[in-house]
Amino acid sequence: MNKTLLCAIVSMTLLGCGVSLAQNHSKEPARIVVAYVTSWSDVMPDPSLVTHINYAFGHVNDTFDGVRIDNEPRLRSITALKLEAPDLKVCLSIGGWGSGRFSEMAATENNRKAFALDCSRIVDEFNLDGIDMDWEYPTSSSAGISSSPDDTKNYTLLIKEIRTAIGPSKLLTMASPSNAKFVDFPDVLPHMDFINVMAYDMGRPPRHNAALYRQDESGNTSPFARGSVDRAIQNHLDAGIPREKLTLGMPLYGHGDKVNYPDYVDFKDMNPPKEGLTKEWDEIARVPYYADSEGKPVLGYDDVRSITEKCRYIKDKDLLGGMYWEYSCDNQEGDLIRTIAAELIPKKFVSAQKVRKASYAGKQKRFKALLFYSDNVEEAHREFASQAVGFFKKLTVGDGWILDVSKDKFPDLDSYDIVIMPDVIPWGKNDRERFQKYMENGGGWLGFHAAGYNDASTGWDWFQRFLGGVSFLCNTWPPQPALVEVEGSGHPVTKNLPKRYVAPSSEYYQWNPDPRSNPDLRILASLAEENFPMGLKDVVYGGDFPVVWTNTKFRMVYINMGHGDETFSDPTQNLLIINALRWIVSQSPSGDPFSR
Ligand code: ZN
Repeated sequence: MNKTLLCAIVSMTLLGCGVSLAQNHSKEPARIVVAYVTSWSDVMPDPSLVTHINYAFGHVNDTFDGVRIDNEPRLRSITALKLEAPDLKVCLSIGGWGSGRFSEMAATENNRKAFALDCSRIVDEFNLDGIDMDWEYPTSSSAGISSSPDDTKNYTLLIKEIRTAIGPSKLLTMASPSNAKFVDFPDVLPHMDFINVMAYDMGRPPRHNAALYRQDESGNTSPFARGSVDRAIQNHLDAGIPREKLTLGMPLYGHGDKVNYPDYVDFKDMNPPKEGLTKEWDEIARVPYYADSEGKPVLGYDDVRSITEKCRYIKDKDLLGGMYWEYSCDNQEGDLIRTIAAELIPKKFVSAQKVRKASYAGKQKRFKALLFYSDNVEEAHREFASQAVGFFKKLTVGDGWILDVSKDKFPDLDSYDIVIMPDVIPWGKNDRERFQKYMENGGGWLGFHAAGYNDASTGWDWFQRFLGGVSFLCNTWPPQPALVEVEGSGHPVTKNLPKRYVAPSSEYYQWNPDPRSNPDLRILASLAEENFPMGLKDVVYGGDFPVVWTNTKFRMVYINMGHGDETFSDPTQNLLIINALRWIVSQSPSGDPFSR
C-alpha cells in the first residue's frame, strides 16, 4: 500500500470516528462499574455513569425449581435503558441477604436443571445480559435461611448448570463476602465472568463499615477497623481469583449506632452530622465517621474522599472495576456515583457530561407513566407496541419522567400519572375494576388502535362508555397511509399541527354510533373525504371517520393509529402523539408537572 493512500485512509478514519480512535490510543484499561439497582426504589439509573446494572432481586421460587422476580415492571424499565445505551449490561441478581431456598434448590439435579432453565427463560424474556448469583451464603444459615454442609459442592454444580443453560455469551457473576469463604473458587471460576466482592458490613459503630486499611505502613492499627477492604481483596486473590476477575464493592450507605442513627443510613440521609456530633477522618483506615463528644464513632460510612481512595486502590491493584450497593443511596447531586464514574470510566463519564450540558432534564423526575401491553396479540399490534416502548422511552430523556413497562401483568396504578395502552386493555375482572376506579379518580389514559377495540365480545360496558359510548363497526384493510383532517381548533393536542397531514400506513376503525354524535367527546382528528373508498379487502366508502378524540368526562385521549411498524415514522403525527401525552399529564389532579 502506498503512503499517500494510507494517509487518506487514516484521515478518513479520524473524521469518521474520532472518539473511538482516541479511546484506542488510551493506556487506560477498560474498567467496569457495576451498580446494584433495587426493585423498591423508583430512581432511574443514568446509563452514562455505569457499565453494568445488577437488578435486585430475583429469588428461588417456592417450589425450588425456578425464579421469582420482585417488581417485574421496574426490571423492564431498567432493561429498556438499553434502547438509549446499547452498551449497558443488565443482569438479574438472584438472592440477597435473607433470600432462602437456595440450599433445597441446589440439592437435587432435577431442581438445579429446572432452575437453570428458568434462568435462561428470564434472560430471554426480560432482555437480560446475564445472571448475578447472590446466595448469602452456601453452608451458612446466618441470614436465617436453610443450609447444608453440601451447599458448597452443590453451588459448583448449580453454576455449571446455569452456564450451560444461558450459554457462553451471557454474563454469570456472583457476590462474595469479604472473607472469600463458602465457595470453591477454583471449580466455579471457569464458569464465572467476574466476582463482586462485598467489601462492606465489616463492622458496626464503634467499628467502621468498610475501612480501606486496618494498618498503615508503619504498622499502626486503627482502633475502629475490623477487617478491611484491602484484606477482603487479598482474601479473594489468595482464593485463586485473578485480579482481572475482581470488582471491589463499595457501600453508598453507612452503619449507625442505633442511638444517634439507625443501623442503615443512606449517604443522602446523613448530611450534615446531627447536633453535638463531629465529622472525623480515620488516617489509617482512610474512611470518615461521625463521632460523639467523647470521640467515639456513632456512624461509619463512606464519602467522596474515601470513595475516591477506593477507586484509586482499584486502579493501583489493577482490578477489573468497582461495584456499589446501591444506586438510590446517593444524594440528589450523585456525588458518590459520579466520583466512581469519573475515576473508573473517565472517557464515558466525560463524554456524557458534554451531552448533559445540552440537557435540561434534572434528576428530579417530573411524573411517572406506565405502559401496559401484551405480546399475545396479532403481529402488527405487537410491532406497534414494541415501537411504542422505544418511542416513549426516548421521550423520558428530554422531558425528565419515568416510564415503567409492564407486559401482561396489570400492576397497581396509584403512583402513575398516566397509563399508556398501545395494544390491549386489561382483561381480568379485578384489573378492569382497578382501571375504572383509577380513571374515575382522575387517572390519565393514552390509548391506541386495538386498545380501543370493543364489541359485544369485550364484555366491558364501562369501557365502552369510557371510550365515548362507541363500539367497533368496521375497518379498512389492508393498512394504508391516510390523509388526516386535523380538528380541535387550537386544542392543546392539535396545537401547532397543520390543517391536514398524511398519516403513515395503518389500519383504521370506524365506529358505531358516530363518536361525533356524543356531545361529551371532542373530536381532534378524522380521516378526510378524499380517502374514500379506502381499503381493498375491507372497504370503507365514506361517512364521518373520527380517529382521535378525548372524552371530556375523563383525562384521556384515544388515537386510532397504531397498526404495524410505521406509526412513529412521521414527525407530524409524532407531534400529535407527544401533544396528547403532555396534555393528559398536564391535567393531572396533582398539577401540571411540565410547569415545574
Ligand atoms: Zn390493527
